Amino acid sequence: MAKRKFKAESKKLLDMMINSIYTHKEIFLRELISNASDAIDKLYYRALGDDSVKVTREDFAIWLKVDKESRTLTVTDNGIGMDEEELESNLGTIAKSGSLDFKQKMEENDEVDIIGQFGVGFYSAFMVSDKVVVNTKPYGGKTGWTWTSEGADGYTISENPEAAQGTEIILHIKEDTEDEKYEDYLNQYQISSLVKKYSDYIGWPIKMEMETSRLKEGTGVEDEKGEQIPPEYETVSEERTLNSMVPLWRKNKSEIEEEEYNSYYKEKFYDFTDPAAVIHTKAEGMVSYDALLFVPQKAPFNYYSKEYERGLALYTNGVMIMEKCPDLVPEYFSFVRGVVDSSDLSLNISRELLQHDRQLKLIEKNIEKKISNELMKMQKDDREKYEKFFEEFGMQIKFGVYDGYGMNKDKLQDLVMFYSSLEQKLVTLKEYVLRMKPDQDKIYYATGETTAMIDALPQVDAVKDKGYEILYMTDAVDEFAVMAIHEYEEKGFVNICSDSFDMGTEEEKEELKKVNEEAGDVLKAIKEALGDRVQEVRFTNKLKNYPVCLTSEGELSIEMEKALNAMPTGEKVKAQVSLDINAEHPLAEKLRNLSGNEQKLKDYAEILYAQARMIAGLSVENPAELSNLICNLM
Ligand code: ADP
Ligand code: MG
Repeated sequence: MAKRKFKAESKKLLDMMINSIYTHKEIFLRELISNASDAIDKLYYRALGDDSVKVTREDFAIWLKVDKESRTLTVTDNGIGMDEEELESNLGTIAKSGSLDFKQKMEENDEVDIIGQFGVGFYSAFMVSDKVVVNTKPYGGKTGWTWTSEGADGYTISENPEAAQGTEIILHIKEDTEDEKYEDYLNQYQISSLVKKYSDYIGWPIKMEMETSRLKEGTGVEDEKGEQIPPEYETVSEERTLNSMVPLWRKNKSEIEEEEYNSYYKEKFYDFTDPAAVIHTKAEGMVSYDALLFVPQKAPFNYYSKEYERGLALYTNGVMIMEKCPDLVPEYFSFVRGVVDSSDLSLNISRELLQHDRQLKLIEKNIEKKISNELMKMQKDDREKYEKFFEEFGMQIKFGVYDGYGMNKDKLQDLVMFYSSLEQKLVTLKEYVLRMKPDQDKIYYATGETTAMIDALPQVDAVKDKGYEILYMTDAVDEFAVMAIHEYEEKGFVNICSDSFDMGTEEEKEELKKVNEEAGDVLKAIKEALGDRVQEVRFTNKLKNYPVCLTSEGELSIEMEKALNAMPTGEKVKAQVSLDINAEHPLAEKLRNLSGNEQKLKDYAEILYAQARMIAGLSVENPAELSNLICNLM
């Protein structure tokens, strides 16, 4: 029989599995059982929509069998099965994106412990076996098939008319090594505890013949004369169902321990840390459903990438119809994981129809409310936890504020936090507004790459000095988000680095006007030297100790320019800026004295402009030229 080759990607993954030194090899069983359960789901699902498929719910099961003699562990199901083509494509290639993610992650940093975070799938069988045989027959198929592989060098497929409907996976368990007791996987007690640990809520019974020892009848009791008959034991074998099956979300809240929620979450969603919050709710009325939702503590490694798939598992009456239904949670709560089980949904509903389903929309609305209530509660009751949460997922929420063009602002603005110059930690807008000074009518903010960099901005120093609180915005999305909020409790937002911000008194403004008029020719010369790069050059009194700064004019700030230009698509934009020179700085005097010295002013203009750009966190446009200029001056 000709050996077929694995596709390149598969072969690599398989190699990793075979040579894995991962300590939780036991997860292979979870993977095989969940495949078996999926296969039964598929057949059951088909039967519901097709009267010619004659199967009954009660007949379905997954069987496990250990055989110490032949060193095999067998996982059998009577699910949908596979035909030759399916065997070839399902077991010969990596279909699952989870496996691919895993493989990439392994190649990047061979951190073996991450394996449990991924649904690594069928190939995980090779962590514990040196040979895997799959006997399978598709439902309604004419014949069955056998797939055999001893590892990465290939596999064979041959016809097997004997195969029973469904799939039987026979693992030839490896011999024990010094570091690894493969023998455990031939031990019925070990196997049954693994099922409890990983697969307890699988909706189909997982059965195993268990050998138990029991007292022989008529022994260990007293006979008619009152004499003790010595106890004798016999080994009997009986089939047991190993899993409890009742899904956690169907149980009563009061019957569930926190630990049970936590371990369910960790197993189901491949996380190592307990969830930050658990939401377990039951709804009845317009639409009825059970939902069990989790807010993770940590963002998955791919959360802020396109690879992350949002959505909740959707079940109807305990049968899963979609693993990740995106229509159940809004984008800005995409970090929430969990399960929704509703008997109001039809099993046969197609994915397209599901999107427009009225019931589903209602569920989404309810769930969204639950999530935001839970988060508000966390913010109130456990501030530290909420701050941690916000550091992980706050960006997503801020993006939600912006993305809806303010449509979602009422729902989200109280969840949002920014770093405060006063508190030196994250604060809410409500807290900010409560603390505002009586004469303050706007919420002050400043933007930059890090809080430390913002703290060092000339404008910030001056405003802080006057005792005002400033919100520091370090994420690209921040300023877009506050623009979408527009006003919070009737207070607008103002970037203290923009021209619309001025804290000066009338007299100060008058004074400044005079200063600017008197030095008109100097300012004009600098402006001419800088051309279109700045809109205006002027003296200012906003700067305290710093010589210069850039002030953005109009809607687009310097940080927004950076953010927009960092996007892969779209036109490049340029923020309109002015060059502000500190009127009280010794430098100002120096410049005024240069009146008439066009060449010097031209050189100084370049240096001042470059300085201002650097302070704003922008790159210098022509570093070589600048360096020459400075050298000449020195
Ligand atoms: P995943 O389950 O995530 O799709 P796996 O590597 O676990 O990835 O399995 C690959 C594919 O092989 C499955 O999608 C399924 O089509 C098929 N398969 C695996 N086990 C079975 C089984 N017991 N019955 C039917 N098909 C199966
Ligand atoms: Mg699988």
